[in-house]
Amino acid sequence: MYDYLIVGAGLFGSVCARELTKKGKKVLVIERRSHIGGNVYTEDYDGIQVHKYGAHIFHTNDKDVWDYVNSFVEFNRFTNSPLAYYKGKLFNLPFNMNTFYQLWGTKSPKEALSKINQQRKEMDGKEAENLEEQAISLVGRDIYEAFIKGYTEKQWGRKATDLPSFIIKRLPVRMTYDNNYFSDKFQGIPIGGYTKLIEKILEDIEVRLDVDFLKDKALFSELAKKIIYTGPIDEFFEYQYGKLDYRSLRFMHERIEEENYQGNAVINYTEANVSYTRIIEHKHFDVVDTSHTIITKEYPSEWTLGDEPYYPVNDDKNMALFKKYKALSKKEPKVLFGGRLAEYKYYDMHQVIASAFHLVSKVEEI
Ligand code: UDP
Repeated sequence: MYDYLIVGAGLFGSVCARELTKKGKKVLVIERRSHIGGNVYTEDYDGIQVHKYGAHIFHTNDKDVWDYVNSFVEFNRFTNSPLAYYKGKLFNLPFNMNTFYQLWGTKSPKEALSKINQQRKEMDGKEAENLEEQAISLVGRDIYEAFIKGYTEKQWGRKATDLPSFIIKRLPVRMTYDNNYFSDKFQGIPIGGYTKLIEKILEDIEVRLDVDFLKDKALFSELAKKIIYTGPIDEFFEYQYGKLDYRSLRFMHERIEEENYQGNAVINYTEANVSYTRIIEHKHFDVVDTSHTIITKEYPSEWTLGDEPYYPVNDDKNMALFKKYKALSKKEPKVLFGGRLAEYKYYDMHQVIASAFHLVSKVEEI
């Protein structure tokens, strides 16, 4: 009999497994995919670590979380500085003095600010009620039209006026010539890829791959005193109230016999008429010396049964449905729910780790 059965070998499940093992618990991890790591999984293609389920860049302000991941593997000093491709031109992101200069020719912060203030006047005195209004009140109409509207509507498959404003709160606006996408104190990518990180976290822990808990919940539940379930919460309850919406992604990976394709890890394509949202060139996430390169075009799509769920759609309709599932989950005495899919949350990796720490500290009180 195990103390804990952990369903899902992604970041959340793996950290829970490690922390519970540290506390002397007997743990079994089961995973329905044929590999560990969930969506942070990376695969080696002749020396290039390919982020198979989309680019992951680790960033955090939490020193404990940073020290934690660094205790398993070494991180490089990658700094995310994506570019935006719009109507044949390249612009720096996040929105900063470089972007303002490229777009308007403004040179000083004073000039740029006066331009932005003039641009966002239409929102004066109004409370932003959706993503479009939030974006305009933050940076004004020019930037919204060039870099946000097309990208966002492709990404989410919904009108920017129908999306919650919190999505855009992630986008920083800087009055300095600083192209670092994140403002966090710590940032980097595990040298050798994320799979190595997860392998280290799960070292000496029993993991069984290709095992689908939901195929026989009753049988698997007998294996342990407690269960930590990290899969989609609606699927656990057999979609009894209906399906939660997710955005899914399709990745078109391409090997090119060229040393350097685009000169940057991430280029966003912000126009509505280009159907992918970004092109990732994986080798630039680290310093690797290869004569070939691997790029990935990222195509957003609506999630349907059988697809990988990526982004939860945290609009009012889905949050109301999620609440119903959450209430059901409270009635499962043996099962704890956690992670991006079970909590239906747009989590970054550092938040996932902090949340796993929190869950483990809580179960200890029980
Ligand atoms: N976004 C945008 N233009 C961009 C990049 C991002 O409008 O060039 C918006 C878009 O709505 C997106 C959100 O900002 O969903 C968050 O994007 P980010 O790249 O930070 O998140 P990720 O998709 O990497 O989780």
